[in-house]
Amino acid sequence: MIIVMRAGAPEEQLQEVIRRINELGYQPHIIRGTQRNVVGAIGDERGKARLQSLESLPGVESVVPILQPFKLASREFKPDRTVIKLGDLEIGGDRLTIIAGPCSVESEAQLVETALAVKEAGAGILRGGAFKPRTSPYAFQGLEEEGLKLLAQAKEMTGLYIVTEVVNPKDVELVGQYADILQVGARNVQNFALLRSLGEINKPVLLKRGMATTIKEYLMSAEYILSQGNYEVILCERGIRTFETETRFTLDLNAVPVLRKLTHLPIFVDPSHGTGHWEYVAPMAKAAIAAGADGLMIEVHMRPEEAFSDGIQSLKPKRFSTLMQELRPFAEAAGRKL
Ligand code: PEP
Ligand code: MN
Repeated sequence: MIIVMRAGAPEEQLQEVIRRINELGYQPHIIRGTQRNVVGAIGDERGKARLQSLESLPGVESVVPILQPFKLASREFKPDRTVIKLGDLEIGGDRLTIIAGPCSVESEAQLVETALAVKEAGAGILRGGAFKPRTSPYAFQGLEEEGLKLLAQAKEMTGLYIVTEVVNPKDVELVGQYADILQVGARNVQNFALLRSLGEINKPVLLKRGMATTIKEYLMSAEYILSQGNYEVILCERGIRTFETETRFTLDLNAVPVLRKLTHLPIFVDPSHGTGHWEYVAPMAKAAIAAGADGLMIEVHMRPEEAFSDGIQSLKPKRFSTLMQELRPFAEAAGRKL
């Protein structure tokens, strides 16, 4: 249920509403607006009729149900788009956010070289996996904490913010010490224990869509994080499984406008995993921006042929830099800055 407060209702009335929501066994989630505040009362759907009684409290304008199953992620709860502030970046704001870097952190030289190159090309955030969720247990699993330290070093050198994946709930605290944004990979999109633990931290989470999750299921996964009180979730479409075999996945750009309609959360697109081939990355990056994405995640490697993972889909720095230039007219046509 959404409890809409009257414009200008004093803080005591809001606090009384919050107290009553707690008393009824629901969790209050507050959005403070410039005009009015609203409170989402989230909990067991079966007893929600009892919340209707809050309508008689002073300062309450209306109590309306949220019809979508993903309550806090929905536009019903929060009509205005969420903008996540990260230092000088506004993720989901006017300016597009570009995340770039290698699939895996491999060595100091590799990471630093790549970080300097993507920074020079105009990226705002450096990616690089230190914990890698690999399909095979025999494949490179990442440098783990050593990789996190290298990311911190690259951040120090370039001023780029860091996004890196956390695979296991037990590592959330460790990864959170180094990362500015914690990534949940496609394979973990329904790892509810991981999602819940990410709901308890105060850093943004980049949640990738699973390769076989519907948009509704995907938003329910985001809801796991939001429901624990972390409202800074960035969505990222990264391709789904279809019958097509010419590409690694099928980048579902439908998801961009559909998500835009259903949720207030920022929406990114990863054309690297979405296609699986470097030649297809640039056209799909442009298409993603044309579709209205708030940002892109692109894999870049100095020597893709030597990459420990995902070399085939990685751009060399020069190509990435050219792509950044080529994206400008697309950003402008979409009413965004780059
Ligand atoms: C990655 O970003 O390198 C990655 C493993 O992506 P995904 O989870 O989308 O496969
Ligand atoms: Mn990868």
